[in-house]
Amino acid sequence: MRSEAKTVIIGGGIIGLSIAYNLAKLGEEDIVVLEKSYLGNGSTFRCGTGIRQQFGDEANIRMMKRSVELWNGLKEELGQDVEFTQSGYLFLIYDEDELQSFKKNVALQNRFGVPSRIITPEEAKEIVPPLNTDGVIAAAWNHTDGKANPFKAVFAYAEAAKKLGVEIYEYTEAKDIRVENGRIKAVVTNRGEIRTGRVINAANAWAPLINKMAGVPIDIPIHPYKHQGVKTEPIKPGQIEPMVISFKHGGVYLTQEANQGGVIGGYGLKYGPTYDITPTYEFLRGVSYRFSQIIPALKYVNVIRIWGGFYAETPDGNAAIGRINEIDEFYIAAGFSGHGFMLAPVVGEAVAELIVDGKTDKPLDFYDPYRFERGELRGRALQMG
Ligand code: FAD
Repeated sequence: MRSEAKTVIIGGGIIGLSIAYNLAKLGEEDIVVLEKSYLGNGSTFRCGTGIRQQFGDEANIRMMKRSVELWNGLKEELGQDVEFTQSGYLFLIYDEDELQSFKKNVALQNRFGVPSRIITPEEAKEIVPPLNTDGVIAAAWNHTDGKANPFKAVFAYAEAAKKLGVEIYEYTEAKDIRVENGRIKAVVTNRGEIRTGRVINAANAWAPLINKMAGVPIDIPIHPYKHQGVKTEPIKPGQIEPMVISFKHGGVYLTQEANQGGVIGGYGLKYGPTYDITPTYEFLRGVSYRFSQIIPALKYVNVIRIWGGFYAETPDGNAAIGRINEIDEFYIAAGFSGHGFMLAPVVGEAVAELIVDGKTDKPLDFYDPYRFERGELRGRALQMG
């Protein structure tokens, strides 16, 4: 392991790796990524694979519009297939209140070039043939949303970053950060010390611990909540191509994996704050019941796996991204709640621009880490699960 680096990124999830890759792409050298376990083992490998632009606020819509453009080109750019497919997101709507709020969101999304629209239950059934449309009065549909394979995406970013000179150290835990007179001096790890002047905190659920090591003087409230995912045995291809969501059924979401055929998803059962991610029987029962309410035929399909992971949540469900002014060259990109996987390409691009150019055209102000201290919470991000 090297003893000196210009940039140390703490966290080998998709956010840390995307930042590393994008920094190297902009010509930065001497970049090290530290991962205390193996790459992806935090939240990223445990996610529901979904990628959508259907948010209810301008910043997340604009960020995700750019992210989808990037997802679309990742195979070519990174040189590996990340199995990104634009199979759409279908939000089921059951009453007039929901309809009004989705209509408002769709109008906003359309203003920023996202081609979402409200469709009839019959059209929804054409998109997902085994769908139960009982009680459904409409659906919000965007065919340019989609999904990707988190395992392949992590390895594709890691390999592409390495080709550009980034060094990635797995099983290497940041234990302390030495700061003197507002300047970073070194990151202390279980494998020795790396002298550096720049740290990027991409540790998501563990980000508060990293902030504490550096003595970040402001409160950035990020709390780890256990959410769970489920996967079934494979079913006939092409049955449930989009991500299907129902807030009326406890925030259930489900989709069929593009290549392996299993149905994966989850619902809004959460525990915490906690660092315990043991899966629960309560989740298995709850998710099986809700899946079969949305797609009755799933009653006959076996579950093969459930797992736990973190939503690293902030009070408004939006991440904290930006520079910490009191510590020279300390940055944070963490607290992504249920949507860090989808945002990773654009966050990597934006953070790299911020560091290298000192500015970015992405709306990073929205994710200002100081907003909590000022009591300026954003509207709650639309969140599944
Ligand atoms: P992580 O992947 O958690 O990476 C942070 C890394 O930091 C970890 O690997 C950790 O080991 C490492 N680390 C921590 N402390 C240290 C240290 N001291 N030293 C070194 N390394 C350290 N998002 C979506 O966009 N779409 C979805 O459909 C979706 N579904 C989800 C479903 C579930 C059940 C869950 C749990 C999450 C879901 N998410 C989804 C959220 C998504 O998984 C996260 O927002 C995203 O993976 C965050 O990426 P990250 O790189 O910031 O964090």
